[in-house]
Amino acid sequence: MRKFNENKKPVIVVSKCLNFDKCRYNGDGDNNKFIDKLKNHVIFKPICPEVEIGLPTPRKPIRLVRDDNDIVKLLQPKTGNDYSKLMYEYADSLCENLGEIDGFILKSRSPSCGIKDVKIYEGLEKGAMSKKGKGIVGGRIVEYYGNVPIEDDGRLKNFKIREDFLTKLYTLKGFKNLKEEKSLEKLRDFHTNNKLLLMSYHAGKLSELGKILGRASKETREETYFDYEDCLVKALSRSSRYKSNINVLNRCLGYFSKDISNDERKFILELINSFKDKRIPLSVPMNVIKSYVIRFNIKNLMNQSFFEPYPSTLIEVTDSGKGRE
Ligand code: SF4
Repeated sequence: MRKFNENKKPVIVVSKCLNFDKCRYNGDGDNNKFIDKLKNHVIFKPICPEVEIGLPTPRKPIRLVRDDNDIVKLLQPKTGNDYSKLMYEYADSLCENLGEIDGFILKSRSPSCGIKDVKIYEGLEKGAMSKKGKGIVGGRIVEYYGNVPIEDDGRLKNFKIREDFLTKLYTLKGFKNLKEEKSLEKLRDFHTNNKLLLMSYHAGKLSELGKILGRASKETREETYFDYEDCLVKALSRSSRYKSNINVLNRCLGYFSKDISNDERKFILELINSFKDKRIPLSVPMNVIKSYVIRFNIKNLMNQSFFEPYPSTLIEVTDSGKGRE
């Protein structure tokens, strides 16, 4: 089954207060289990924008405030200090100098790191009204790195969001690893091995990707890779679909359905139905089907990333129910 290239691990920028330092305004840090698990599989680059612009730890809280000209500023209510210029400059320079990054995990709701649901106040006084928006650095990262997976620790508590994040991270990293060589044969293998996964995300884009490969002989390798990447990013920009996952599971069952007993078939169909009713996660019917793929040595399915889009040790079926769209 699938092997991951341990020499080319994804590089993830992470908010430093998530497991790397006690650098929050009150001197606290987080202990996030998911990030702990990820440490063996990715290369983390921790950043703390507030410390990096020169603020001490601990420090008085800072907040985002929208001024009369509709400009969002980063202010410290206790002192009246304005850190906007420093933070906007830091955000620009960070994005320009980070280089090749495969993903981001940022602290939720932080006025600096947050990517959504950050309070933007109408004023400095206690009880001032607020609306939701992005933090200064988080917002700039979202604009600059639109093609890579970006999530916050709060949303990643949700199983489905975490699964989509990891799937996108590892699939795009697999593609990036190919880009160095630009071999057409390897791109075709990549496409074949990701077919079922892409079908579960976006069947329309899967067919577009096939067409891009179909016309590859008439185009330069650079054009083919450029078009393929653009379409691949779009295919993975949304969540995998329940209905499409069910279609893929049924399609896989079709490969060995006649070789198993009626009771076995009934059991698998019941699992697919339980997944359809959202009573169990996809990994349950998927792993049962995977065991038959191994048992019957089904070559067409053996290397499908659908069965292991990211290292299986990262699967954790817990769901806070928070962070849903
Ligand atoms: S949220 Fe960002 S700026 Fe705030 S402590 Fe964490 S890493 Fe530093």
